[in-house]
Amino acid sequence: MSYPGIYIHIPFCRNRCNYCDFYITTRTDIKGRYIDNLIKEFELSAENNADNYFNSIYIGGGTPSLLTPEQVFRIINILKGNYNIQDNSEITLELNPEDITEDENKTIEYRDSGINRISFGLQSSNKDELKFLTRFDDTEKITTALERVLKCFKNASVDIIYSIPGSLRKKLEDTIEKIISLKIPHISAYTLIFEKNTPLYYHYENNRVYRNSDETEAELYEYLSDRLTYAGYNHYEISNYALPGFESIHNLKYWEYNNYLGFGASSHSFFHPRRWKNYSNIIKYNLSLEKNTLPTEETHTLTAEESEREIIFLGLRSKGVNLKIFKKITGIIFEKKYSSAIRKLETGKYGTLDSEYFCLTRKGSKIADEIATKYF
Ligand code: SF4
Repeated sequence: MSYPGIYIHIPFCRNRCNYCDFYITTRTDIKGRYIDNLIKEFELSAENNADNYFNSIYIGGGTPSLLTPEQVFRIINILKGNYNIQDNSEITLELNPEDITEDENKTIEYRDSGINRISFGLQSSNKDELKFLTRFDDTEKITTALERVLKCFKNASVDIIYSIPGSLRKKLEDTIEKIISLKIPHISAYTLIFEKNTPLYYHYENNRVYRNSDETEAELYEYLSDRLTYAGYNHYEISNYALPGFESIHNLKYWEYNNYLGFGASSHSFFHPRRWKNYSNIIKYNLSLEKNTLPTEETHTLTAEESEREIIFLGLRSKGVNLKIFKKITGIIFEKKYSSAIRKLETGKYGTLDSEYFCLTRKGSKIADEIATKYF
């Protein structure tokens, strides 16, 4: 049985980082009203989900660690009261270091409120890189915060950003060695993306910063993959690494084409074949719920062709295309329909087929998106 997951978006941040294009607001004074509406959204959706059993809750953002442990407790408690949440579900909170530097007990209180996994926004252990990203850059306090988290939570992940312009590989190595020495069980590593409509992109357009070349990025990716694999991490998705047994239950749902329910402004939900999205506007979100209406902005029912493409795209980025699931969802035998593409990719040592999966080799993973577009 595959269980769906629950995602909750907390769209508040102290400041907007220069590279970020997520839906967030720095108006933290409206947190209370937002949480009340989030709870209302849980209650309004509960009836439609009476038959679903969930095994993960992910509180992401934004900056969920701007919530008090009491607010987090309220969210988890009301969810548990209205939905079938399995015992031992993975319950993650995204946390930024600056939110726990002042209060030693906050981490313990999060654990007591029901959180059993932390996703820590480290990004880098280097002060200059953090400054470049316009993030909190007191590296000593960040280390203390990370140690506090690791003391309370056996299951923790750190986010890092690499390929920051002007940064030498040495800085990335320092960050990675630190993570390995602390035995942090899960790592999500993303390249710096220059999203349009961000200050970073504006600086790039005006030649104030440059982008690393594709070759540099590929070298850094290879270094990361080699070093972490050598240290015992399983490279289980293009950007994700885990020590055995610490793969993220929630994130696997996105990559394995499982269903999930999203709550909060700008959140997305997926129950095959339907995708829907909430308002990416906190005012519209609040007003809708205050009128007792679900804050759905858009709904889309996937065509068979769209489903097929999505399963392939997600599969190639992670464990591979699961042949059984592909057939169950699309009614198509993957290895038959794509036999010629599979043969070419196998010959070029870009992919391998076994009785369960078609997956990319290391060589293929480096150009996964290109392969998805060109061959499928
Ligand atoms: S803390 Fe995260 S969500 Fe908030 S602005 Fe920075 S990158 Fe965006």
